[in-house]
Amino acid sequence: MEKFILALDAGTTSSRSILFNTKGKITAISQYEFTQYFPYKGWVEHDPIEIWNTQLKSIKEVINKAKIKIEQIHSIGITNQRETTVIWDRKTGKPVYNAIVWQDRRTSDFCLELEKKGTKEIFYKKTGLVLDSYFSGTKIKWILDQNGIKSKANNGELAFGTIDSWLIWNLTKGKYHITDITNASRTLIYNIHDLNWDTELLNILEIPESLLPKVVSCSELIGNTDSSLLGKSIPISGIAGDQQASLFGQMCTNPGDIKNTYGTGCFCIMNTGSKPVSSKNKMLTTIGYQLNNKVTYALEGSVFIAGALIQWIRDQINLVNESPEIEDLALSVDDNGGITFIPALSGLGAPYWNPNATGAIFGITRGTKKGHIARAALEAIALRSRDIILEMQKDANTNFNSLKVDGGASNNNLLMQIQSNLLNKKVIRPKTTETTALGAAFFSGLATGFWKDIDSIKNIWEVDKEFNPSNDVNNDSIINLWEKRITKVL
Ligand code: ADP
Repeated sequence: MEKFILALDAGTTSSRSILFNTKGKITAISQYEFTQYFPYKGWVEHDPIEIWNTQLKSIKEVINKAKIKIEQIHSIGITNQRETTVIWDRKTGKPVYNAIVWQDRRTSDFCLELEKKGTKEIFYKKTGLVLDSYFSGTKIKWILDQNGIKSKANNGELAFGTIDSWLIWNLTKGKYHITDITNASRTLIYNIHDLNWDTELLNILEIPESLLPKVVSCSELIGNTDSSLLGKSIPISGIAGDQQASLFGQMCTNPGDIKNTYGTGCFCIMNTGSKPVSSKNKMLTTIGYQLNNKVTYALEGSVFIAGALIQWIRDQINLVNESPEIEDLALSVDDNGGITFIPALSGLGAPYWNPNATGAIFGITRGTKKGHIARAALEAIALRSRDIILEMQKDANTNFNSLKVDGGASNNNLLMQIQSNLLNKKVIRPKTTETTALGAAFFSGLATGFWKDIDSIKNIWEVDKEFNPSNDVNNDSIINLWEKRITKVL
């Protein structure tokens, strides 16, 4: 009887279930979107019950689609949108408030207050994170500050979790209150050096320790699903936050290994080995993953506008009808024609950190064609990624041989070739670009013997296409113009 790993990919807009076979190939996928709530400006919420219901529906559907028996599911791995915060009643299992999503800015002012009190450095030193509303800590405090909630929390009646914890609680009918170390490392209350919930930070945010889940590694047997849900119980044996799962799904298992996801924005994460690396450029220091007792650290940086630049070109200035058409348009010219596109459509993040910067197109002449703008836009995505990759490389004091890529815009061959040229490194795109779910499956399967070890996973990991740097293009001039022109918008 053929066996599969079931990966639950609990994303920001949808709940997905994916079955992987022993070759790491996708056998079936099911996906259900859920509601995004925007109650006030800057607020973003999800209904945790809807997340659970859509996740369970997708599990049942994927099993039906693949026409397999429950017994054929060897084990379950979970990956999830990180930082999103749920607090629920341990007795009733009901959330006391909606999930506050990672994008939610409601605690920004509170973060500034904390900063004024001089706590920023303490948070950074202990958690590797910047003091920002993005992370769970201040979201937890906000929920606890609502009417009547704190006393319940102090009495130990409530539980906090990110979406992984919430799903495990429901999958096991309240038997396990658990999170993994990668999700914990994004909460702003977990000490990534001592590897425990940090009492000083909990005191600053007035969070009782009784609220918190037990922290486990990414790959170990956690418990079994309650048999009433699917008719039989299945072991749960892998958890990781989405970016970390993708790092592992891309088999970035050596220090210096790095992956970049090209979606709406770019998410870049580099394996830095067994010691945390602190960043001079406000990259985040985070836990990459933990296998057995071995913790692997990572540096993380993101570019806010990547595929979003192509969306803007598509929807606002209508140079293309569909995003992928940008590739042919950019190929209609030989080079960028002297154009530099500064994609600061919502400020500039690392390493410039200027929220007020605005975008610009430099170098326009009467000879400028649409194709030049398209080409410069693709170069802009690659140049912003290069900016952060080079900073990470400096921070980690390491070199790397190749960049692993995934995400919607990684299907653009020209963009990947430009990225390779501008980094002067090999760019590798895998066959399975669902690297997040794949990473969760790998973690789960390693714990349950579905895969023997990392080497056997590396043997099944397949490359779709490799891009090697080309010197035919005048890369230096592109980079020089970029470096000169970007200073004009800062
Ligand atoms: P997300 O997960 O952030 O929603 P996806 O990984 O689905 O993003 O990628 C979608 C983004 O990638 C969109 O911003 C889209 O404009 C861009 N995109 C998709 N295909 C291409 C392509 N072939 N070339 C350039 N950009 C693309």
